Amino acid sequence: MDVITLLAAVLVNALLMSLALVVGVGMRVRSGLQAWQFMLLGQAAGFGLLICATLAMPRLLATLGVIALSASASAMVLTVCRFLSLRVPQRALLAVPLALGVAHALVFQDQRVATGLTNLAIGGQVFWGSWLLLRGAGRMRWRWLCGAAAAANALLTLARAILVLGWPEVYPRFIAAHPLNVASLMLLNASLVLGTMGFLLAHRDAAEQALVRLASLDPLTGLLNRREWMQRAGRALGAADDGAGVLLMLDLDHFKRINDERGHPVGDEVLKMAGEVLRGELRASDLVGRYGGEEFCLLLRHCEPEDFGRLDARLHQALRRRCEASLGFEADFSAGAVRVQPGETLAAAVARADDQLYRAKHAGRGRTQCAEGVL
Ligand code: GH3
Ligand code: MG
Ligand code: MG
Repeated sequence: MDVITLLAAVLVNALLMSLALVVGVGMRVRSGLQAWQFMLLGQAAGFGLLICATLAMPRLLATLGVIALSASASAMVLTVCRFLSLRVPQRALLAVPLALGVAHALVFQDQRVATGLTNLAIGGQVFWGSWLLLRGAGRMRWRWLCGAAAAANALLTLARAILVLGWPEVYPRFIAAHPLNVASLMLLNASLVLGTMGFLLAHRDAAEQALVRLASLDPLTGLLNRREWMQRAGRALGAADDGAGVLLMLDLDHFKRINDERGHPVGDEVLKMAGEVLRGELRASDLVGRYGGEEFCLLLRHCEPEDFGRLDARLHQALRRRCEASLGFEADFSAGAVRVQPGETLAAAVARADDQLYRAKHAGRGRTQCAEGVL
């Protein structure tokens, strides 16, 4: 098949998919998909310029085309970094297309070296992207899809570089209808489609995760919200037949006064600090949530009496110290603790802990009232 026709097919394919992304996902596509959009436009521009270079101003247009293709490969690596939340190697992503452009213009007279260099650099960039995608791919299926498409592409591009540099008589020119050229352009076309599908899945996964986070976390403290905490604590109680540990209900003292005297933003800071103290002092197996307003709920798994005493003292002390250090006043809390009985429902345990909390408030605040069996 004619290579120019295949180049045109890649160009049209990239433009159509870029258009489909804008229509399907909207003009305000963010992060990863935006970078993928650049990658598609880079492919279209690059191959458009390479086609034009066969008609006029070959050195200038081919060099610009090579820069566009290499920038497009950088955009592919950027897409991967964004979706996988990796650090973006900005300098390398910019430097490779520019260095390649300069080198290509300098060696343009020698088509063999120019083609070899271009394929080596772009193949290397695509290989880099596929390596980032495929290492430790875990359960995300889109990583396999995009990674395999990129890896196949990178290998064919690198094979072209090796052939043109090592065996020029077998592989004469980039534009020649060599089976490797034809195969790699057809594969490129397919991998643009697969890559777009894969990164659309990645975009959907990211949106889904953001929704789950929004639905299960309290935005101010980052702790579980009440609904999520109730669900998880309920499951934990259901799974433990020997009692699920200690349930602690905690309420900040005189919080309304803090709001009234120092303002709501300071109140919010105290809430955030309480969230950080709780997260910092608890073990990974403990469940902590914001029950509502200035109330927090904790389920402490496998908590021995002596452990609970120490933890409780640390919590009171840490909150007082942190508020004093950052805000200039001490905040404290009252709490009620119960040991969950085998077979007891969550609602019953919460009601008992609430009762203890009420007693702690009436006993003068700044203390934790424990039901029998906690200490
Ligand atoms: P007590 O020691 O008896 O617990 O008294 P209190 O003032 O802490 O309790 P009260 O229930 O009277 O006041 C709770 C206050 O918490 C009232 C409400 O405006 C405030 N509050 C609830 N949610 C937030 C929030 O997200 N931010 C801020 N700044 N205040 C909140
Ligand atoms: Mg309260
Ligand atoms: Mg309170």
